Amino acid sequence: MILCIIHESQVKVGLWQAFICKLNSLKMKKSSLILSTLVLCVILLILFCQKRRYAKIDERSDTIVLKKDSNSLPSVEKKHIDVQKEYKEIKYPTPNTCSDKVNTVEGVILHHTAEPTIERSLGVLTSLKKRVGTHAVIDIDGTRYIMANPRTVTYHAGYSYLAGKENCNNFTIGIEFQGNTLECPLTRDQINSAIDYLLPLISQYKIPINNIVTHKMVRDAYKQRHPNQRCSGKVDITQIEYNRFMKSLKERLSNK
Ligand SMILES: [Zn+2]
Repeated sequence: MILCIIHESQVKVGLWQAFICKLNSLKMKKSSLILSTLVLCVILLILFCQKRRYAKIDERSDTIVLKKDSNSLPSVEKKHIDVQKEYKEIKYPTPNTCSDKVNTVEGVILHHTAEPTIERSLGVLTSLKKRVGTHAVIDIDGTRYIMANPRTVTYHAGYSYLAGKENCNNFTIGIEFQGNTLECPLTRDQINSAIDYLLPLISQYKIPINNIVTHKMVRDAYKQRHPNQRCSGKVDITQIEYNRFMKSLKERLSNK
C-alpha cells in the first residue's frame, strides 16, 4: 500500500516535472515567437524606411526636373517675346511720285490719314486728282501697304522744313498711320509694324533719330521761317502719339 502510495506520488512528481518542462518549452517557444515577430517587425520597418527614402529621392529628382523645366520657361518666354510678330506687307503703288528726283533718305515724317477706313486712305493716297502720296501706310492691325520704294520722292510733306532744308519730300520717307490720332491712339501693332519697316532704313541710310518727326513739326518749322505763307495748321500726328512711337523706337534701337 505504502509502495503504491510512493509509486503514485513518484508518478505525480514525474507528471508535474513533465508539465513544468512542457511549460518551459512552451515559454521558450513563446519567447522565440515574440523574438521572431520582433525581428520581422524590425525588418519590415527597415524595408518601409528604405522605400520611403527612395520615394523621397524620386520626389526630389522630379522636383529637380521640374525646376529645370521652370528655369527654362523664362528663356522660352523670352524667346517668344524676342520673336517679333510679322506683319503682312502689300505692294500698293502710288502714282503720286516725282520721277526726276532721287530721295536722299535723311529723315522720316509721320502722319495719320484722318480717313475712317483703310480703303478711303488708299484711295486718297493713289488719287491722281489729289496728288498726294507716301511710302508706307500702316493699318490698325499692322498691315503695311508699300506705295513706293525709299529712293522715290513722294508728295506727303508739302510746305516743310527739317534739318536746315525745305521741301522735305526730297529727302524724307513718309509713313501714314491709318486713323486719326486726335480721336484714337495708335495701336501697338501700328507702332511695331512701322518700326519693323523703319529699322533697316535707319540702319542703311544712317537716318539721325532727330530727323524722325511729325508732319506738324516740319510744317510749323516752315511757318516760322515763312510767317506770311498760308498752310494748314492741323495736328498730324499728336505729340502724345509721337512720344509713344519714339519711346518704342528708341527701345528697339537700343535692343538691336
Ligand atoms: Zn500729313
